[in-house]
Amino acid sequence: MDALVEVSGLTKRYGETVAVDGVDLTVLAGEVYGFLGPNGAGKTTTLRILTGLIAPTSGRVRVLGGRPGESAVLGRTGSMIESPAFYPYLSGLDNLRLLAEYAGVERRRIDEVLELVDLAERAKDRFSTYSLGMKQRLGVAAALLKDPELVILDEPTNGLDPAGMRGMRRLIRELGSGGRTVLLSSHLLGEVQQICDRVGIINAGRMVAEHNVDELRGEQELVVRAAPEQQ
Ligand code: ATP
Repeated sequence: MDALVEVSGLTKRYGETVAVDGVDLTVLAGEVYGFLGPNGAGKTTTLRILTGLIAPTSGRVRVLGGRPGESAVLGRTGSMIESPAFYPYLSGLDNLRLLAEYAGVERRRIDEVLELVDLAERAKDRFSTYSLGMKQRLGVAAALLKDPELVILDEPTNGLDPAGMRGMRRLIRELGSGGRTVLLSSHLLGEVQQICDRVGIINAGRMVAEHNVDELRGEQELVVRAAPEQQ
């Protein structure tokens, strides 16, 4: 199977702080890969490197066969890193229209992604009236506009209420079953167990384990130590 993300020896330092410390990570085509770890483990830093937002200090990173940030790679990757920024007084639809215009995406695709994220009925309402879960789903819709092969989501359920979490998890499962490759970060063991095929566990900047999701049960203790907050 093709590897869409190949990372080896990835390190990112901020002065004395080693945010990411020699991480190896492979995401295969068609899988939903969970990047699990507690707050401050280095998840966001790693995903920011993979999406070309920041440069690594050292290590090898290949995304879709190229370097993060290259236009050919960006065009085939959709991402939501931290909370997405939208214009509060524009509707969800108009926010997506602006992004679609910028990205050269056909209008038709906007309707498709709004359906996918279950926002079609509220599309004409102002963004500021959306619940946090709806805002996050609009962020995923924006990430899907270019019909990307690879979708990278940083803690997409963070801060959501139970209904919002269920909606987001359902959406991610649908993306996976539709054949899309998804890399998501989470600090919730139960969440990655529900929605992922494979899980890499990061703690204090280092990968401590990698498992098929059905092997996680045997490593419960290790996982819980690395990611104590469960949902
Ligand atoms: P969270 O779930 O809280 O977002 P995380 O696993 O995503 O956690 P990171 O945000 O990647 O973790 O942070 C890893 C470490 O790097 C933390 O100690 C953090 O304080 C540090 N760090 C991250 N970004 C910077 C920065 N720009 N400058 C200095 N230190 C940073």
